[in-house]
Amino acid sequence: MNEPLLDVRGLTTSFETGQGRLTAVDDVSFSIEEGEVFGVVGESGSGKSVTALSVMRLLDDAGTVEADEVWFDGTDLLSLSEAEMRSIRGGEISMIFQDPMTSLNPVMTIGEQIAEVVRHHGDTGERTGFWSEMRRKYVTGTSTESRSWRRAIELLETVGIPEPEQRATEYPHQLSGGMRQRVVIAQALAGDPSLIIADEPTTALDVSIEAQILNEILELSEEFGISVMLITHDLGVVRETCDRVAVMYASEFMETGHVDDLFEDPHHPYTEGLLASIP
Ligand code: ADP
Ligand code: MG
Repeated sequence: MNEPLLDVRGLTTSFETGQGRLTAVDDVSFSIEEGEVFGVVGESGSGKSVTALSVMRLLDDAGTVEADEVWFDGTDLLSLSEAEMRSIRGGEISMIFQDPMTSLNPVMTIGEQIAEVVRHHGDTGERTGFWSEMRRKYVTGTSTESRSWRRAIELLETVGIPEPEQRATEYPHQLSGGMRQRVVIAQALAGDPSLIIADEPTTALDVSIEAQILNEILELSEEFGISVMLITHDLGVVRETCDRVAVMYASEFMETGHVDDLFEDPHHPYTEGLLASIP
């Protein structure tokens, strides 16, 4: 069997709160295989976001993160410098947050901000075959500038934005919430990631849009072999989208398994309670 893409062992994160230390993530271990959609489900405050932020080393100084191991694609993330970690963020690992505006610059056109990620992370386009196609079409004389713009437009098209050439020149506020989240997904793809961590990516959107955005993420995962860590409080979403899932409760992973097994035969009373609560 192949090495997992992400392998996290013994992750513990605590905060100094004024009334003592709060352990937000308590000795959590999990792995995500190449190409799989891995769910993390749990109620609000259980520690899902902090788990993801700890792996990405995105917590501010308030949090203390300890871990035995955090391996990503053969690299020990714990050993990386902040600069090396920065180049992984938005590149090989992209994050999508609940509120699209967290990831978008309000005063930059959406095309420009996607193009910027393409330039910054030097998108190889290997997953989508984009650059080989580009090289075939435009052998010489094309500036990186316009190639990255073309790539941005193609990515907008990939995530289902209609009239992408026109949309690329618009600002985030000119788009609906669902379209904005599609832009964020395009931006995540621009780094040619092998893992996308999506933290409640549909929670801020209308229910009618939710299925579309989840489908978009799933299709991209399938088409380009991108692994997804999908964080949600909604077990219904997990059932629709995930291969395996970890159930998080009070800072711990209660159980982890294939979604079908978990739905058929939950091992933990908390999971049973969760299952009973979905229609
Ligand atoms: P979830 O994403 O599952 O809703 P979180 O991971 O955001 O939950 O939070 C887990 C716990 O950690 C909560 O009790 C929350 O209040 C606390 N927490 C999260 N971030 C911080 C922080 N920066 N400082 C102090 N406490 C925090
Ligand atoms: Mg959260």
